[in-house]
Amino acid sequence: MTISIHQYLCLTDNYGALVHDSTTGATACVDVPEAGPTLAALSEQGWNLTDILITHHHADHIQGVPEVRAKFPNAKIWGPAKDAARIPFLDHQVKEGDMARVGSLAAKVIETPGHTLGHIAYHFEDDAVAFCGDTLFSLGCGRVFETPLAVMWSSLAKLAALPGETQIYCGHEYTQANGRFAITVEPGNPVLKARIEEIARLRTERRPTLPTNIAAELAANPFLRVEEPAIQAAVGMGGAQPAAVFGELRTRKDRF
Ligand SMILES: [Zn+2]
Repeated sequence: MTISIHQYLCLTDNYGALVHDSTTGATACVDVPEAGPTLAALSEQGWNLTDILITHHHADHIQGVPEVRAKFPNAKIWGPAKDAARIPFLDHQVKEGDMARVGSLAAKVIETPGHTLGHIAYHFEDDAVAFCGDTLFSLGCGRVFETPLAVMWSSLAKLAALPGETQIYCGHEYTQANGRFAITVEPGNPVLKARIEEIARLRTERRPTLPTNIAAELAANPFLRVEEPAIQAAVGMGGAQPAAVFGELRTRKDRF
């Protein structure tokens, strides 16, 4: 393993992450919610920025890019081809199945439309790590702004199919609030109850609840469990298609 990951808080509840390849010294940041904490994290780690991986166009994911790039003018910026018009500074426009490279590390691009049309995730397959931006959160998922709800379900299903041990990094620390909704949907799930207790402990100590992993989310995240009879029953949709149950859950969460 030559990958090292450093996660740090930006703004109020955004996470930035640095991905470092110890073989070549290459370092990427995944999204740049804020330049100051990103530059500070690089300096603390003693890492030299070579790449920036963008998940989607929202300001709280890209607004720090110009300032960071001014300090590291050779850094290459990767991002979704489908949103190149809204992310004007891309050096590498990538789409489904393309590889983003950080030194000797390689991330397969997974298109995950829903939260935004062009949203992508980066899957470092050999290292069992994925950066999911605002598509999958621990115990929740992103709001669906730019596609029908069923499209977001397809995107989440792609992430849910990654190997269970895959470490999942997310764009925001929303886990505790997500847990408050999740427990109303599946109050009898012991894994969910244990996770909510763990989250409360972590947050009391002001520690992050992320990364999570796919196996943990499959066991507790209601948005990945829409095929469970208990969840279908909770929304009065026994036997319904997963995309339809997902749509109902997401709509209820929006109003929660
Ligand atoms: Zn967003």
